[in-house]
Amino acid sequence: MVEGRWSIVVHGGARTIAHNRRAANRSGCAAAAQAGADILRRGGSAIEAVKVAVCILEDDPTFNAGSGSVGNAAGEIELDAGIMDGSTLAIGAVAAVSRIYNPVEVAAGMLDAAPILLVGAGAEAFARSRGLPLAATPLAPLPAADPGHDTVGCVALDQTGHFAAATSTGGLAGTMPGRVGDAPLPGCGFYAEDGIGGVSLSGDGEAIARTLLAARVMRALETKKATSAARAIFKPLERMQAEAGAIVIDAAGGIGLAHNSDHLAVAYAASDLKGVKTLLHQNELDEPDGQ
Ligand code: ASP
Repeated sequence: MVEGRWSIVVHGGARTIAHNRRAANRSGCAAAAQAGADILRRGGSAIEAVKVAVCILEDDPTFNAGSGSVGNAAGEIELDAGIMDGSTLAIGAVAAVSRIYNPVEVAAGMLDAAPILLVGAGAEAFARSRGLPLAATPLAPLPAADPGHDTVGCVALDQTGHFAAATSTGGLAGTMPGRVGDAPLPGCGFYAEDGIGGVSLSGDGEAIARTLLAARVMRALETKKATSAARAIFKPLERMQAEAGAIVIDAAGGIGLAHNSDHLAVAYAASDLKGVKTLLHQNELDEPDGQ
């Protein structure tokens, strides 16, 4: 790792992004990456940067996370989020919550608590105990047909060499009430470990969980650079006939991504790059270290 080097990458979901949603996907991801980058540039922590970036994405109705989420088969919102501190391997995650505006914030509050995953009413009680805002009634879903929605996530490396990763989602539209996908499951929808790197995913949650996609990318990161490691998702996805995308930072701070969906909305920034870059497809990646 180069002393003082920092990197951040965010995603707004792996899916087909309609023409009229592309600008909003780019600008939403850019705003989140910019906020995280500002924290990292000032010497702030990776965990703070991913939390702040994912909160911004959760607050943006362009994305299927937080208050902008789609409904399940019962027309209700159920949100999942997970966050991991690569320096301690501390994990916080919540699942099937319906009254929490920023699930990633509650998950981050759990990093110093014993459980790694709280669901439903238990997660909401934890949020209340930490003084985090809860909606009086369950949040209302956005129309399931909205074409611009998907999961969000972030990976960051700070100047002290610490990694963090987070993923937050409203899940897949129309699924069974109580269904939880990969997003709050470490080793599936996210993972981070100092000295190796970090990853956040989006896509078909059951397939991502069955194939432990985040864990596979982490294993690849032990010997490969960011984009080659991200490509570890392709074989398992082919086997499952499933769609997903991954954003990755490797041990040296290189940024990479891979997806077999039509698009993956991404923004990234790093200490050795000028400004925030956005892309909607892996072919647009121009980060030389990412290969
Ligand atoms: N992976 C998420 C889930 O299955 C959905 C998504 O990324 O779009 O809940």
